[in-house]
Amino acid sequence: MVDKQTAQVAVLGLGEMGAALARALIADHWCVRVWNRSAGKAEPFARQGVAVAANVLDAVTGADVVVVCVADYATVSALLHREDVASALRGKVLVQLTTRTPSEARASEAWAKAVGLALLEGAIQGYPMHIGTDQGAILYSGTRATFDRVESLLRGMTGQALYISDKIGSSAALDLAMAGTVVPGATLAFLNGAALCQAEGAPLEVYRDLVEGNLFPGLIAATLALSVEKLASGNYAYTGEGAPIDAWYGGIKMVRQAMCDARINPEWTDRVLAYLGRAMETGHGQSEMAAVFEQIISTEGQVA
Ligand code: NAP
Repeated sequence: MVDKQTAQVAVLGLGEMGAALARALIADHWCVRVWNRSAGKAEPFARQGVAVAANVLDAVTGADVVVVCVADYATVSALLHREDVASALRGKVLVQLTTRTPSEARASEAWAKAVGLALLEGAIQGYPMHIGTDQGAILYSGTRATFDRVESLLRGMTGQALYISDKIGSSAALDLAMAGTVVPGATLAFLNGAALCQAEGAPLEVYRDLVEGNLFPGLIAATLALSVEKLASGNYAYTGEGAPIDAWYGGIKMVRQAMCDARINPEWTDRVLAYLGRAMETGHGQSEMAAVFEQIISTEGQVA
């Protein structure tokens, strides 16, 4: 277990997020040293008496735990995948908090094994303002032993430090599913509905209130719960609870017509109709929407 009294922590990257992480650790009384490519962002830390390393090698030398949060995985590789830095990292814990794909996390794990360092891949759920609070959550993948070793430090960054699994790409997958898929997908759907309301003079504030107060907690929550149940069983048959794909298809065709009548772009409905139409062609007209999952996991028409 890392000991707050004696452990040295290096934070690499003082962008919006990295600086918030460093501030949270300092506020939690960890002994922190920082490094950032452009010196200006380290100045507020230096003024506070925090040690500022001249370069990455100086930052990681003598540190017990290294937290890295920079723009992307290519930057992490450029900074750490060097012989001198790798050798200084041997035997330490690297908490990698840069957003990345599952395959980048796997590449990172292979590199960490070769170097001989313990790696945690973390996915930040929230904005810099959530760091250092109980609202902030970070999902971690790596070995349970590594998580346990530094858990007290992880809790210094966010109240919710959640261990996911030893499949190193799992935190990245959850992150991309939530922040990269559900959030923009729901927002895009919301904006399409807003365009239709605006074009037809339906009050946008009523639409917003309906979505926030009614649709999300009610209809969507129920549809998602049903989808989870269908995915778990692998049986997508419509059993009278939700609506069969045939019915969804008809409804969304009507949305398309309304968007065309209002002279707004129906592209979003075309995409949804394509999914539903293919499900109907493969005999799923009387299945729940969850049957579309079969197309999503199909390798047919896969793009590189
Ligand atoms: P940011 O404010 O743009 O900071 C980017 C950081 O990366 C800076 O420290 C920057 O250094 C460094 N950097 C970029 N290119 C570099 C290079 N070639 N060599 C060395 N350092 C380089 O971004 P951020 O908001 O802190 O985000 C950092 C990570 O957190 C990203 O992976 C992001 O997806 C993730 N994240 C952010 C948020 C958020 O709300 N901000 C939420 C969740 C996850 P310079 O200062 O020298 O440019």
